[in-house]
Parts: sequence; C-alpha cells; structure tokens
Amino acid sequence: MDIGIVIKNMNGYFYVQDDRGTVHECKVRGRLKQKRYSLLVGDKVEFTAADGAIESILPRQNQLKRPAVANLDQVILVVAAHEPDINALLLDKLLVMIEHANIPIKLCINKCDLADACTDELVNRYEDIGYTVLRTSTYNKTGIAELRQLLQGKLSAFAGPSGVGKSSLLNAIEPNFEFQTGKVSDKIKRGRHTTRHASLFSLDEYSFIMDTPGFSAIDFSDISLEELIPLFPEFITYGEGCKFSPCYHEHEPICSVKEALASNAISESRYHSYLVIREEIKQQKKY
Ligand code: GDP
Ligand code: ZN
Repeated sequence: MDIGIVIKNMNGYFYVQDDRGTVHECKVRGRLKQKRYSLLVGDKVEFTAADGAIESILPRQNQLKRPAVANLDQVILVVAAHEPDINALLLDKLLVMIEHANIPIKLCINKCDLADACTDELVNRYEDIGYTVLRTSTYNKTGIAELRQLLQGKLSAFAGPSGVGKSSLLNAIEPNFEFQTGKVSDKIKRGRHTTRHASLFSLDEYSFIMDTPGFSAIDFSDISLEELIPLFPEFITYGEGCKFSPCYHEHEPICSVKEALASNAISESRYHSYLVIREEIKQQKKY
C-alpha cells in the first residue's frame, strides 16, 4: 500500500501524489464510498497505485468548508504596502476569520518597493501582537527566499485582498506555476472570482500550496460575541487583569485591556476593529 496526498479532484477522479512526487489518477474504493465520507483536497490517503484505488483516509488535522481543503498547516495573509493601500479593518476581519478557523497565520506585506513609514508602523503593530510579518517585493525580488522558506514542508493557502500580488508572489516563488496576474480592474472584468474546486501545487514532495486564494468572503455568522474576544490575541495577553469574566472590554469597569489601550500597548486601530466586528456580530444576531 502507498501513502499520498490528494492534490486535485476532477471529473470523479482524485489525483494522489506519492512521496516521490509521482501523481496517480485514482478512484475511491467501493467500500470507502459507502461510508459517505467525502474526500477533500489535502487529505492523506492509503492507496494501491497499481489499481488506482484509494483504500482509506488518514485522520485529518483540520478541515475547512470554504475553501474545501483538509490538513491546512498555515495561511499566508498578503496585503500590499500601497496600491491598494492597507485597509486595517479588512485586514483585522481576515485575521479574525483565520484565527477562528484555528489555522496558524503568517502576514506578508508585499509591494515593499512602495514601502514608507506607514509600512514600518504596520509591521511593528502586528509583530507586537506576536504575528510573524514578512516584507516582500516581487519587483525588487526581496523577501522571496524567506517566503519560500516559510512554505517548506507545509500545506499553505494564500489569502488577502485582490490586487495585492498573491499570484505574482507565487510566480516569483516558482515560475512554473504560471499564475494569472494582472491589474485589479482587468481581473474584475474577466470575472475571475467564480468558485471552483481548489487544487494543490507541489513545490517539492512535502510542500504544497493551494491554487485558489482562501477566505475571500467575510462571514462572522458562526462567531459569538464571547468567541470573538480571544480572536484578538493581544486581548489574551493583556486581559488577565479584567474584573469580569468574560469581559467584553467595552463598558466594564476595571478592564486591563482598556488600560493597555490607554498606555498604547494595544493599538487604537486594532481596538477599533474589534468594536466594529463586535457590532457586526450583534447586528447579525438580530435576524
Ligand atoms: P493578486 O490579485 O493578489 O493575485 O495580485 P497580482 O499578482 O495579480 O498583482 C496585482 C498587480 O500588482 C499587478 O499589476 C502586479 O504587477 C502588481 N505587483 C505585484 N507584485 C508587486 C510588487 O512587489 N510591487 C509592485 N509595485 N507591484 C506589484
Ligand atoms: Zn476587559
């Protein structure tokens, strides 16, 4: 029996890559099918290469609905220093969604050829929270080797607003990928946002990247007001002295998060994002 990872699901076939990098076209063995357990891209499976048959699925570490993928190790969340300017609220919303999915995050600030003092401020803000922040430029080729290093041995998805350079970064990492890049407006015209099955690109036998950007739709419908609090990791760090439990860090007296805000240990921008997302969740719960 061989072991491999499902990298593509097309026309009823699953494409399984073994640990030598060879891809096998497989069907799911009948008895596995009867269990009605749907196989996802990213699943590790036992299969018989000679029969092209998937025999069993190894236990999943995690699974996501949108994008439909199993065993994601990390999300590389990409924003641009400029063009488009960073929208701090959108960035925090994406962070909250990925934190909620409980998947490790690395931040990547691309277009650092356009970087200025605002970029430094942003890098500091998120490094202080504990996030790893990478600076890249596909124009200057800076940070590309470091990014490649972060992807080593992992299954990664790229996420982030359109036009920040996700496709360009993937092409810079591995020119064989040939991701379609282009100006934001061109892409919208072409309607590139139609949903389709994700598949995985293999960087080497052990490193994989999803070909479709993840977390494109912002949706807080399955996050409660209480669950939202620790999705801001700095609230865990600074929230230990709060009198109430849970403390929503809004109107409560003796709140160490608000004290940290007053002393600039927590940034205004992050706290503002928290209040906005909290309000959006409240509005959703009314319906
Ligand atoms: P995606 O929508 O996130 O996949 O973004 P693309 O990779 O399609 O890039 C969008 C635009 O940004 C293209 O016009 C790229 O040429 C440009 N771009 C990509 N990387 C950089 C960079 O490092 N610096 C600058 N200034 N522009 C970049
Ligand atoms: Zn508090």
